[in-house]
Amino acid sequence: MGKDVKYFLIMAGSTNHMLRGDKLLKDKGIKTSLVPAPAEYGSVCAIAIKVEDKDIDISEKYLRENDITIRGIYEEKPERLTGLIDRLKNTIIRDEFLEVLKKIEDGKELTHSDIVLLLKTDRKAEKEALFKAADEMRKKIVGDIVDIRGAIEFSNYCKKDCKYCGVRRNLDNLQRYRMTEDEIMEVVHSLHNIGIKTVILQSGEDSWWTKDRIASLIIRVKKETGMKITLSLGERPREDYEYFKELGANNYLLKIETTNEEIFKFIHPDDDINHRKQCSSWLKELGYLNGSGCIIGLPGQREEDIANDILYFKEMGINMIGIGPFIPAKGTPLENYPTGDVDMTLKAVAVTRLVCKRVFLPATTALASIDSDLQADALKAGANTIMLINTPAKYRYNYQIYSDKNMVDLKSAYDAVTGANREFPSYLKIDMEVYKDAANSEK
Ligand code: SAM
Repeated sequence: MGKDVKYFLIMAGSTNHMLRGDKLLKDKGIKTSLVPAPAEYGSVCAIAIKVEDKDIDISEKYLRENDITIRGIYEEKPERLTGLIDRLKNTIIRDEFLEVLKKIEDGKELTHSDIVLLLKTDRKAEKEALFKAADEMRKKIVGDIVDIRGAIEFSNYCKKDCKYCGVRRNLDNLQRYRMTEDEIMEVVHSLHNIGIKTVILQSGEDSWWTKDRIASLIIRVKKETGMKITLSLGERPREDYEYFKELGANNYLLKIETTNEEIFKFIHPDDDINHRKQCSSWLKELGYLNGSGCIIGLPGQREEDIANDILYFKEMGINMIGIGPFIPAKGTPLENYPTGDVDMTLKAVAVTRLVCKRVFLPATTALASIDSDLQADALKAGANTIMLINTPAKYRYNYQIYSDKNMVDLKSAYDAVTGANREFPSYLKIDMEVYKDAANSEK
């Protein structure tokens, strides 16, 4: 979707209407994408259908003809941060840094060199100004509620040998596991019972989980709970993605990891970057809420590469962007490489919010694994989502994609959300204040 085109956001009456409406418009050949709805028009998990202004009238006609309820249609205005520079007037910031912040204030697009400048700063006042701008943008766009999702890592079998990953094929001492459909469903029900709306089903690239087996799982999740499903199963044929979408899968998370071709090749002995990008394009065409992301601190990665990653997310219209630090995993070829820089990760999160704007940005588990306070820091730097890890305890130890992977549970989510002075979604059917008492009794 180009630069000078105007867009409209269509809010449907329900998730079901939104998904049906999006499919209908796509079938009619209209270019649509699904984006988080503006904070003032719904909760953070509400999704809007985004269409170009040339298509808005015909889209509205098709939707009405097909009894799709429309709750509102809004022109998407460039998001400005009016008064940002004024609010920073007592801080010592270089002129060139201020110029980029001014562009953000005015709702202008950032160039590659603007982004590099933001990422390269090591000055405390400038970093604080960047996080503040991202936090204001996040508040304006998606509001204060932190979307909470539950992840089940249901198989650690993987046919790929990614050099950084703690479940790669060539790890001799790893005990492999595969949860059964019933075991997975038990966790899905426990998430559903506490009101979680989205379950993330993640695994290594495991051929045992064929198209039909995944299909059977999707059908059960939908039938028994009606929850939204995010799949994160790696690269699959287009027809698999298409089938899973038809059965009701909503989101797909397939991180590009880095857009630098040389680094990509070095860390992925069996992957081709163009094929991975192709998979991501298929997912988008098929109407998934499309997830990507990158790892910060890969060998040889520079700020210029991270800037390219961020611009790639924007160009591809990615809706969920997971940005986490590289963490060395024992027994992998990269085990002796240094951990990715925390500050660089937070800066990348902040710049991504400022550039990609209307997206879901998780405060990643990888950050929490370095220090439990870092999820709150990410929430203060533009993030708006937390992914709980719900893999049963007996398997969890063997899904250490990196060493000392932290447990993100309701208690740590409570700490992060309250630490960042943010709100829990009203769909949670548990009183999060019980975790306050738990926190106090630990003191
Ligand atoms: N197989 C699926 C895929 O390729 O998308 C999903 C599973 S994969 C283990 C999930 C994510 O873990 C990857 O996208 C990668 O970003 C992250 N990851 C793996 N090893 C990591 C490491 N050592 N440090 C940071 N992130 C890592």
